[in-house]
Amino acid sequence: MSTSADGCEGYEEGERPCPLCGAKKIRREFQGREIRYRICSVCGSAWATEMLAFEAHYREYFPEFLQKDNPALEPRYDAVLRRLADLAPSLSLLEIGCGNGQFLDQARRRGWAVCGTELSLAQVEHCRRRGLEVEAGDLKAQGLFSARRFGAIVLIEVLEHLPDPVGMLREAAARALPGGVLYLTTPHWGSLSRRLLGAKWSVLDPEHVVLATVEGLKRALQRGGWRPISLRTRNFNPVELLHSWKGRAGCSEMGQADQMTPAGGRAATKAEATEAFRRKLQGSFVLRAGKDLANVVLRWTTLGDTLVALARRA
Ligand SMILES: [Zn+2]
Repeated sequence: MSTSADGCEGYEEGERPCPLCGAKKIRREFQGREIRYRICSVCGSAWATEMLAFEAHYREYFPEFLQKDNPALEPRYDAVLRRLADLAPSLSLLEIGCGNGQFLDQARRRGWAVCGTELSLAQVEHCRRRGLEVEAGDLKAQGLFSARRFGAIVLIEVLEHLPDPVGMLREAAARALPGGVLYLTTPHWGSLSRRLLGAKWSVLDPEHVVLATVEGLKRALQRGGWRPISLRTRNFNPVELLHSWKGRAGCSEMGQADQMTPAGGRAATKAEATEAFRRKLQGSFVLRAGKDLANVVLRWTTLGDTLVALARRA
């Protein structure tokens, strides 16, 4: 065993293959705040040594802060929907893990025929109250939407919660029309924040059981029946770095998390801090310009906090 600067320890080959690329060689282990991760020697991605029983865990899940739509996400969702409309063979869309239905609702207002799946029963009810077609459960376990085909499939901040991400990508591909497209975001294990913060990175949460690198996500998409169109990174949250360096509590899930990922009350505080930062950004030209520049650099260097993938059914 040897320990490197970022807290990783040398480790022998392990029994479980990498859930993203399928390789059986584990380079090292990494101790997060609460759980240990194994790291793949081939694609460099990380996964938790102990996986949550994810269906049971999320069935009862619905913290209050997740019920409200986040208006700050609207411009980004619009940009995503415009891009998908250019690429997709039809304006029909399935979102896997649709949360409170904000993205679906916005897509519907932009002319898409939409439906979704969600594990949290309360979220499903919430979505149905807003008139959305949302089914409870998992694509494979419950065979949801198995007879339907969609022009676009969307997975926003979902992949990191799945013990078998490639299995889910295959299920998603089976529900895509020929030429159908996938839009996916997930935290980036190779990000500058993770490299600088190590075990203090706020994304290291027991609910985030698989954390991909660019290479890991690329291989997972290919194994799952998708041909990547673009794979890039974005977002960098200086608030989190500053707070960590000052020794204060981690403060943000990600600079602009697409959806507030489930992490209970702690995430609510993180989300509030990020929201405050976002408001500050909106009010300051210099800060905004700085952030735009940071995003350009991060996209170029692929060091951002979030991986963003577009892919077409293979
Ligand atoms: Zn791997």
